[in-house]
Amino acid sequence: MTQLDQIQNFIDGQFVPPIGGKYLDNIEPATGKPYSLVPDSDSRDVEAAVAAAEKAFPAWSRTPAAERSRILLRIAELIDRDLEKFARAESVDTGKPLSLARSLDIPRASSNFRFFATAILHTENEAHMMDGVAFNYTLRQPRGVVGLISPWNLPLYLLSWKIAPAIAVGNTAVAKPSELTPMTAFLLGEVCREAGLPNGVLNIVQGTGPNVGSVITAHPKIGTISFTGGTVTGRKVAQAGAPLFKKVSLELGGKNPNIIFADADLDAAIAGSVRSSFANQGQVCLCGSRVFVERPAYDEFVRRFTEKVSQLKQGDPLEEKTDQGAIVSKMQLEKVTFYVDLAKQEGGRIALGGAAPPPPNERCRDGYFFPPTVITGLPVGCRVNREEIFGPVVTITPFDNEDEVIGYANDTDYGLASSVWTQNLSRAHRVAEQIHTGTVWVNCWLVRDLRVPFGGMKQSGVGREGGEEALRFFTEPKNVCIAK
Ligand code: NAP
Repeated sequence: MTQLDQIQNFIDGQFVPPIGGKYLDNIEPATGKPYSLVPDSDSRDVEAAVAAAEKAFPAWSRTPAAERSRILLRIAELIDRDLEKFARAESVDTGKPLSLARSLDIPRASSNFRFFATAILHTENEAHMMDGVAFNYTLRQPRGVVGLISPWNLPLYLLSWKIAPAIAVGNTAVAKPSELTPMTAFLLGEVCREAGLPNGVLNIVQGTGPNVGSVITAHPKIGTISFTGGTVTGRKVAQAGAPLFKKVSLELGGKNPNIIFADADLDAAIAGSVRSSFANQGQVCLCGSRVFVERPAYDEFVRRFTEKVSQLKQGDPLEEKTDQGAIVSKMQLEKVTFYVDLAKQEGGRIALGGAAPPPPNERCRDGYFFPPTVITGLPVGCRVNREEIFGPVVTITPFDNEDEVIGYANDTDYGLASSVWTQNLSRAHRVAEQIHTGTVWVNCWLVRDLRVPFGGMKQSGVGREGGEEALRFFTEPKNVCIAK
């Protein structure tokens, strides 16, 4: 068996097997078959990773920013160099189209390293003068060993979005990718070694949430946790951190509204909505799974949107022309099927999709496929319209006026992101102000400036990632007050 077939942990700069010697099958969603083995690590592996990170912290935190920046830039270059290798691993692990991994996920991962590598060269420290008394300046210092936990939908994109700022400012890290999608993090370990990242600065412990994730979140030597995942898990992470007063950032689930007013550029709104509904088979936390269309445009929107969605090519993720790949796991596929059945019970009409398609080819005979599914006629307050499905399923609902749709948009426990399509600039500002989501896109979707605060309101999270917010999260501000 080659090293790539048997994934290893990355601890203290070395690839090591799990101490307990146990592995889990890593299933390729497109085929439903195992294609590699992932360590089923436990608390002993986390302890080893924490010890390595602790040992590395003093030297790394004192390493000049210019040198840290140089190493992070080298990591970015190496990811770009190995783009095809990373993209293929990502596609096989997640079931997403190779073309999407190549054009979005992996370039974004290298951008994350590049962004924070340069950001740390341009920071300012605040000073506050007290007339005749004293002056204060703020030291922002790394916090020590940080824990970074990420989900399966955008594995390297999201993990690197945490690793890059955490280590850029001088912390050392213990990271855990989802056990469903371990391969790109494994490859990242190789790249970090080649880039000259000192041993122990980044440690990657592979395994399950209960055996690894919960040990990281409860570990007394890890005072900072950055977590992205579901709201139910987020609650457990918050509970684990609270007694130890950990600094915790939670990026959680969403049930995002996508609002189309009758005055919108309908061509753009339809094209944007196809993407925001079904990118990565709807498995992006930012996907607009609840579409609201102003009544005068409703019939035309539903007809043209459904027609465009029906043209998406579902197939083997490794084939270049595939637009829609596989669902990440059997469990996730069952969840999607459950909600489509529930939609029928709740009075919904399946305008498109709704049942498992024939396999795209022989290789994918046992893969986890579900077609893009469009549902109309559901009440706004029903379960399908309130609970996160995280799959290729959208509902479309008509509305009559601005106040009504703002009420619909906010009628959920989540508050991650929203999209508004209108040509009326005043309305865009009005609606953006009243929607309770951390991001509001107007006439676009998933346009990401890495400098802006990113995160959710309500049960979509606590804290913000991105740019300055991340640099602040991963540092401890200390006030030094000097008397005059
Ligand atoms: P998840 O089940 O919450 O898992 C996320 C991560 O937490 C995984 O690595 C998981 O390990 C680990 N974990 C599980 N139980 C844990 C525990 N008790 N303590 C610590 N860690 C634990 O989420 P998922 O199903 O992987 O991802 C989908 C969810 O992520 C969706 O709700 C989606 O909206 C959300 N998401 C949010 C954002 C955002 O930016 N707000 C971005 C992407 C995704 P295992 O893999 O072993 O379970």
